[in-house]
Amino acid sequence: RQVPQEIAILLESMQPLKLRGYQPWETFCDSVGALMNNTLLPKDGKGVLVALRPVPGIRIEQALTLCRPPRAGDIVTLGENRLVLFLSFCRIPDLDTALKHIFPLPVADIFSNRMVWYEDAQIAAEIVQMRAMQPEKWSKPLKMTADAAPVASQRHDDNARRRVPTLITLLSEPEGEPR
Ligand code: C2E
Ligand code: C2E
Repeated sequence: RQVPQEIAILLESMQPLKLRGYQPWETFCDSVGALMNNTLLPKDGKGVLVALRPVPGIRIEQALTLCRPPRAGDIVTLGENRLVLFLSFCRIPDLDTALKHIFPLPVADIFSNRMVWYEDAQIAAEIVQMRAMQPEKWSKPLKMTADAAPVASQRHDDNARRRVPTLITLLSEPEGEPR
């Protein structure tokens, strides 16, 4: 059956929300820019933009390997020694909850500085600044980041994340040997 045209337009306009995880700088700016211009989405309720600067001794490329957004629509890019995240539909009081779901270590252990934008106009203005940045300052992820899947062996509960234990066999018993 054919999708009615209004629904097709609506689905098309939600396209950026299908992305997840690392995006090149330009794709990131285009996606967040498109979301801000999308009048079908709630005003000032589209999400939170966060720029995080790693603690001394950690490179942003390394910090990115720890950034595993589980939710579609949560995207991240690297540039000017900052890791920039856009968390779709996250509300500002929920920012720490969302960051806990995304990083396997306490965020304060990885990043020393954070800047946050959450209203459409603020986010759009920051995207204009980001677009103006020279391509030399963009950073590329390490090879291992591109291959990494979201952390599978974890489960969320109300306040903390827990690893779900998985059974592993270190040495199999040689066949026929007495126990
Ligand atoms: P998704 O939004 O892409 O989220 C993928 C997975 O990220 C979820 O798998 C869950 O493990 C985690 N996740 C995302 N957002 C949150 C959150 O706010 N809190 C917690 N604790 N975990 C979160 P899951 O649960 O198997 O859900 C699969 C998909 O089903 C989700 O994909 C989403 O499309 C939908 N979904 C599930 N529950 C909800 C819900 O309460 N509200 C909405 N709007 N969609 C939901
Ligand atoms: P919300 O999106 O309104 O979700 C409210 C609660 O519904 C979540 O509380 C969680 O219990 C449940 N929920 C929502 N989506 C999913 C899902 O896909 N899977 C499962 N299993 N549960 C889901 P929670 O986890 O305490 O999160 C509170 C708020 O924090 C969320 O409100 C959202 O604003 C933000 N948040 C949490 N995790 C993420 C995330 O991974 N990405 C983004 N963008 N926001 C998140």
